[in-house]
Amino acid sequence: MSDVNVSDFNLAELTRMDQDEAARQMSICNACRYCEGLCAVFPAMELRRAFDGTDVDYLSNLCHNCGACYDACQYAPPHEFGINVPQAMADLRENSYPRYVWPAAFSGLFTRNAFWIGLAAVTFVAAFIAGVIGWHTAGAMFATHTGNGAFYRLIPHGILVAIFGTLLGYAILAMALSVRRFWRATHGGEPLAAGSIRQAIHDTATLRYLHGGGPGCTGVSGRPSDHRRWCHHATAYGFVLCLASTSLATVCHYLGYEAPYPVWHPVVILGVLGGIGLIAGPIGLLTGRPASARGKSRPADIGLVFIVMLLATSASGLAVLILRATPLMGLALTLHLGIVAALFVSLPYGKFVHGLHRVAALVRHAHEQRAAARG
Ligand code: SF4
Ligand code: SF4
Repeated sequence: MSDVNVSDFNLAELTRMDQDEAARQMSICNACRYCEGLCAVFPAMELRRAFDGTDVDYLSNLCHNCGACYDACQYAPPHEFGINVPQAMADLRENSYPRYVWPAAFSGLFTRNAFWIGLAAVTFVAAFIAGVIGWHTAGAMFATHTGNGAFYRLIPHGILVAIFGTLLGYAILAMALSVRRFWRATHGGEPLAAGSIRQAIHDTATLRYLHGGGPGCTGVSGRPSDHRRWCHHATAYGFVLCLASTSLATVCHYLGYEAPYPVWHPVVILGVLGGIGLIAGPIGLLTGRPASARGKSRPADIGLVFIVMLLATSASGLAVLILRATPLMGLALTLHLGIVAALFVSLPYGKFVHGLHRVAALVRHAHEQRAAARG
C-alpha cells in the first residue's frame, strides 16, 4: 500500500485494501513466527488462525512501528512476499481512527487534518483577541498588567472556565464514545479481570513494547536506539505535568490565590517542567520518525499535525511566563489560549486518539494472554 495515492480511494475501499494486506502479511508471519519475541503483535497473532477486519484493526493498534520486525525479516522487499509489517500496520492504524470516531460524520476531519486544526487555531486566537479588544480596548490589550489576578483583568476567570470547560467536556465525551466503539468492535466481550487492567496500565506507562525487542526503535538513522521511547515518555509526561499545573492553578484560584504565580510556585514549576517535556519530546519525535513510515502517500500526516500543535501549545505557554510582566502579555496570553482551545477540540480528531486505541488494545492483549496462560 505504501506507493498508492490513497486520495484516489474512499475510506471503505481503503480499509478493505489495508485490512486485506495486513491479514495477508499476518498469515505469512503466523507460519514463520521468527519475530514472536519482539512485541505484543506476534503473541496476539499466534492466538489466531485467521484474521478478520476487527482482528487486524486490533493488531495494528498494538504495533508501535518500532521497525524491528522489518529489519529482521527475510521476506521483506525485494522478496516476492513483500512483508513490511510496520508499514501495513501503520496504514491500517491510521484509517482505523476515522472509522471509530464519534460522531461518524466528522471522520473527514482526519483527511484534511492540518487544514481543519489550523483553521480552528486561527479562529480561536482571532476570537480571543477580538474578545479582549471588544471587551476592553486595544490599549488594555497592550498595557502592562501585574499582580494578583493580572490575567483575569483581560479575560475574567469565569469566562475562561465556561469556554475551556465546554471544549474539554466535549472532547472527553467524543473520545470516550470513540474508544467505546473501538473497544466494542475489537474486544470479545468477556468480563475483564483487574489484573488485565493493571498489566495494561503498567505496559502503557513504561512503553514496554517500544524497545524493538531489546535494542530499541529504528529511527531515521536506521540504527536501533531508545531515542523514540524517551521522546514518547517526555511528551506524555510533559502533557500530564501541564495538566497537573492547570488543575493545581484551578484549586489555588478557588482558594483565593489568583494567577500569575511567582516562579517558585508549584503551579509554575509543574508548568515549566511540563512545557520543557512538551518541547523536547515532540522535537525528538519529529527528528526521529521511523524509517519504515517514510515514503507514504497519505493525504494527511496527523502525527505531524499533533506534534506541531503540542509544540505551539508549550512554546506559547512558556511565552506567557516570560512576557507576563511586559506589554506583550495580552498578545501572548490570547495566542496561548487560542492554541489550547484548538488543541482541546482537535483531541478526538487527530493523533491523540492513537494513545486511547493503544491502551484499549493493550487491555485486550493482557486479557488474552492471561486467558491463554490459564489454558
Ligand atoms: S516479519 Fe518476517 S521474519 Fe518476522 S514473523 Fe513476519 S515473516 Fe517472519
Ligand atoms: S514494528 Fe515493532 S511493534 Fe510493530 S509489529 Fe514490528 S516489532 Fe512489533
